[in-house]
Amino acid sequence: MTNFLDFKFNKQILSAIEDLGYQTPTEIQQKAIPLAMAGHDLFGIAQTGTGKTAAYMLPILMKTKFAQGVNPRALILAPTRELAIQIGEAITELTKYTDLRHTVIYGGSAIKFQIEDIRKGIDILVATPGRLMDIYFREELILKDLKTLVLDEADRMMDMGFMPQIRNLLEIIPKKRQNMLFSATMPERIIKLSEEFLEFPMHVEASPQATTAQTIAQIIYEVPNARTKISLLEHLLQDEAVFTKVIVFTRTKTSANNVFKYISRKIGEDKVRVIHANKDQNARINAMDAFRNENIPVLIATDVVARGIDVSMVSHVINLDVPVIYEEYVHRIGRTGRAGNAGLAITFVNEAEVYHIQKIEKIIKMTIPRQKMPAETILFETEFEEKQTMLMEIDRQHKKEDPTFQGAFHEKKNVIVAKKRIKAPLKNSKKFKQTTKRKK
Ligand code: AMP
Repeated sequence: MTNFLDFKFNKQILSAIEDLGYQTPTEIQQKAIPLAMAGHDLFGIAQTGTGKTAAYMLPILMKTKFAQGVNPRALILAPTRELAIQIGEAITELTKYTDLRHTVIYGGSAIKFQIEDIRKGIDILVATPGRLMDIYFREELILKDLKTLVLDEADRMMDMGFMPQIRNLLEIIPKKRQNMLFSATMPERIIKLSEEFLEFPMHVEASPQATTAQTIAQIIYEVPNARTKISLLEHLLQDEAVFTKVIVFTRTKTSANNVFKYISRKIGEDKVRVIHANKDQNARINAMDAFRNENIPVLIATDVVARGIDVSMVSHVINLDVPVIYEEYVHRIGRTGRAGNAGLAITFVNEAEVYHIQKIEKIIKMTIPRQKMPAETILFETEFEEKQTMLMEIDRQHKKEDPTFQGAFHEKKNVIVAKKRIKAPLKNSKKFKQTTKRKK
């Protein structure tokens, strides 16, 4: 099943897929869709970024077909409001040529409007478990017509302590239904849950679990500021024999655009492409195709659009900044070192990002080796504004760890950056601090 036409989807679904620019089903879609459409329970091991949402949603859309009655016939449970919203957005896209109705309910937002949406009648409901049960116990939600139940990111759902709500839910929904459970990892407790929740499930797996340490070499450069980061990037990319296929990740679209402009001036427009969410689908596909098939060695990308993209032979992933959503780190570096190829992930870390990279190191259970910046890197002094922003961020991190922390930033309001140049790469924050002094 390497073509969406093979699944015998209806015209409305195929048109939506075409509009989204999906050309071929992803691995998890190839494996899961035929089984789900045949009515099996599914146990899917797939991370975000594998196309898992469409893998369970497309069969649901084929099953629910068109608007009918007022009660939901499919329920998707997600651990967080962010994921729930993301799933809702995917449904909006995928159902745009149908009359199917859906809504997304989650905590931390006015319940009144969510109840109003439910009252209007829906076919598909996306929910976080707490809010779902809340609305159910207010007798504003009837679940007797449920035919399909999906637990998305089940491992996170368990980590977040949602099991009691899920057990409650299983008590009240029809026994005869199709179940799908998706999880990024497969620890013992998920296997147990699957035994409780699934009937004769078929197992599908996107690709081996992200074991970052084994396939991908990782290093960190401690870089004092944004300008030096760009200078280091430029220096690295000059070694074209080594940096043959590079994805450079930035946190924001603006930063992606700026880096693109600068780097294309330096290494030539014919060697670099950029993709981010503000680019239309065609521009993104063209950039991806060029990077994949042509002799384009550098792709600048933000996290959002880089998900689900499979390019083999990526020699390097360079993180110009540290992702603040920590699992993005694993997604980002997973773009290299594929299918047994050697890959290197390089992360540029400034003083304010040390906190985040340490959190990531905890998650991936390893310390990423720090390397000295190449001697040729031009070191720039940190601009006043950037320094202030970093100090504020460090304060925020302190407060997060210790809510009683009073904050050091206001005491440092008068700090200015010394005019002298930074002479050595940032080895530790102490040295970095030496480059600042009080205003006279
Ligand atoms: P997910 O893993 O469901 O969060 O999907 C990750 C990203 O991949 C989303 O932006 C989807 O729109 C995109 N996506 C899903 N299926 C495909 C496909 N077959 N081809 C290209 N992109 C896809």
